[in-house]
Amino acid sequence: MTGDAPPGGTNAGTPGSAPAADGSGGGAKTRQVAPGVIELFLPLPSKPTIINVYLIDCGGGEWALVDTGVALPASRAAFAGALQELGIEPAAVTHLLATHHHPDHFGASRAYRAEIGGTVYLHPAELERIAYTLSAGSEDMLVHSRRHGLPIPAGHADAPKPMQIWAGTFQPTTDIQHLLRDGEVLELGRRRLQVVWTPGHTPGHCCFLDLDDRVLFVGDHLLPRITPHVGVYATGPENPLADFIASQEKVATLDVRLVCPAHGAVFEDHRHRARQLVAHHEVRAREMWDVLRAGPATAFAVAHKAFRWVFENEVDRFQAGAAVMETIAHLELLRGRGAVRREEVDGVLEYRAVGGADAG
Ligand SMILES: [Zn+2]
Repeated sequence: MTGDAPPGGTNAGTPGSAPAADGSGGGAKTRQVAPGVIELFLPLPSKPTIINVYLIDCGGGEWALVDTGVALPASRAAFAGALQELGIEPAAVTHLLATHHHPDHFGASRAYRAEIGGTVYLHPAELERIAYTLSAGSEDMLVHSRRHGLPIPAGHADAPKPMQIWAGTFQPTTDIQHLLRDGEVLELGRRRLQVVWTPGHTPGHCCFLDLDDRVLFVGDHLLPRITPHVGVYATGPENPLADFIASQEKVATLDVRLVCPAHGAVFEDHRHRARQLVAHHEVRAREMWDVLRAGPATAFAVAHKAFRWVFENEVDRFQAGAAVMETIAHLELLRGRGAVRREEVDGVLEYRAVGGADAG
């Protein structure tokens, strides 16, 4: 649903640790993961099945919330129940820090503004994505998909709009009080949170680093068990995987004690995981380059080989589309490095290995 799970990959699974005794009732499961930092596990309608949002005690009766969960009633009820069990008044949640705009992270933000009315912090590139998503038809995606070789017949127009795909999960606010800037330090009560812009998974994805406790809230940027989806969509950007790799290198320079991800358990060695994610994409890119050495191909054709398992069994259209978009991201990474060329043949983009077996 969010594009967070890689095609054929594993899901985030259930939290690895037992919930706190005070959080095992009717609300979301909760767990204190650092002094004044409480993790809430909210339900999602599809894989990954849980998102972790975080409440941060800012002192003086004020709390900051990192991400919201989806807008569905089950998630809203779990969040409200958790606040009640924790003894936190909704009005005390005075800040909403958004890592990015996806439904599981920002889908309930309109309800947050309506019910709690706190300050919303979001990167401007994410606000652009929201504006596009709210108004987009299916045409851009059809044109983009055809250009990359998907066999969509002319005249075919029953593709769903983005808002139909995200159904009731995405009810975002566009009433943003604070547009995030890379490197700025948010002073929220006694907390000092540095904004770390980490484009890649989305163009305006941000992490937040507690400068005193060295706790890093990473959204989907640095997940312990799943590889965040990075794809090229109709409106770009053209080379998000280069951005994603640069963002991993950026995060690896930070001084961090604990990583708080949106899916999966909290973990400690952020540099190790960042290196693993970069290595994963380097291997995938190399596999796709090898496919192209046998001859020029569209992203769709390359995806069939590189993500064979997605296309082998019953084809889930969303998963197949995500696999193609992720393939484009790898091919554009290679193109940015000069390892492949791209040319348009009868309105369809073909990639060709530079120096490959067919190179003339
Ligand atoms: Zn996401």
